[in-house]
Amino acid sequence: MLKTRITEFFGVERPIVQGGLMWVATAELVAAVANAGGMGFMTALTFPDAERLRAEIRRCRRMTAKPFGVNLTFLPTLRPPDYPALIRVCVEERVGFIETAGRNPEPYMPQIKSAGIKVVHKCTSVRHALKAETIGCDAISIDGFEAAGHPGEDDVTTLILVPLARDAVDLPLIASGGFADGRGLAAALALGADGINMGTRFVATREAPVHENMKLALIRRRETDTRLIMRSLRNTERVLHNRAAEKVLEIEGRGNTRIEELIPYVSGRVGRQMLQDGDVDKATWAAGQCIGLIRDIPTCRELLDRIMAEAEEIIGTRLADMMAPGDRPSPPHA
Ligand code: NAD
Repeated sequence: MLKTRITEFFGVERPIVQGGLMWVATAELVAAVANAGGMGFMTALTFPDAERLRAEIRRCRRMTAKPFGVNLTFLPTLRPPDYPALIRVCVEERVGFIETAGRNPEPYMPQIKSAGIKVVHKCTSVRHALKAETIGCDAISIDGFEAAGHPGEDDVTTLILVPLARDAVDLPLIASGGFADGRGLAAALALGADGINMGTRFVATREAPVHENMKLALIRRRETDTRLIMRSLRNTERVLHNRAAEKVLEIEGRGNTRIEELIPYVSGRVGRQMLQDGDVDKATWAAGQCIGLIRDIPTCRELLDRIMAEAEEIIGTRLADMMAPGDRPSPPHA
């Protein structure tokens, strides 16, 4: 059992977080992660309006008595979401934790914090982590270049970002980007993080509400099979290399890209259809470099059990055995 500032912060057993996943982080997945001892975030923008988010929060509560939170992503969208209404529902439904991502959540902090909700800000640079601390966020999730979705524009890997973020901020810290197994968890803790966030790995679980083809695609593809799209719009997204991603890159290669040209391939509406019908080339879909490490489709419980066992073996045995007996630190008051 690993007790960290993140398990304490969320009141969960395991320092493993399932961050926001557009169209995927619905009650089924979030409750499965919670019931397996991790921390799940339901993705607010997946639902057409605030009342549908409310219904999903209530549905999730019927599936788990454990803590879970709501992800609010602030990125450019084709249809502007009603963020104050989404936050109002979180307040009324007594959600304990909100994961913000994409942009500085400062405009919404008074509404969130006055209700006593804790904010985990997911960001992609140390300067944004520092800003988040200044505006009153309660924890930081730092997202390295390996990550799926929007890894920012700085291209700094998790290996560098995590220790830098640890040096810079005092808040509980979650390492994100590239994590899929217990080796990653042990490494993240060694780098100074208090837990890990996984996204892509959770898509390849039994409970993820997506077509089997999507899960099988994650198993079959390798760490080299992702691409960065929308860089020309300064809204870079790491996606699986498929026909839609190739088409987007071809359009971007012509220069002077306008979002309107990319909509047929990148819009959430088409992406959602693809996740349901399993046509893996229909649209772009977020996937991290950790696909190279994904080899099966376990339940969330099996996945978390395995990650914890592996991390505990590495920390308690493999690394401990590397220390000569005389060099091992003695327990306090021994
Ligand atoms: P959407 O259909 O509104 O837009 C499709 C894609 O185009 C998104 O990546 C979006 O960021 C981008 N986009 C839209 N307008 C743009 C503009 N003017 N300039 C540059 N890029 C633009 O997106 P959606 O699939 O309905 O998702 C809604 C929001 O959630 C988007 O902002 C998306 O990026 C974000 N998102 C969140 C998560 C998460 O896990 N929380 C994951 C993926 C995407």
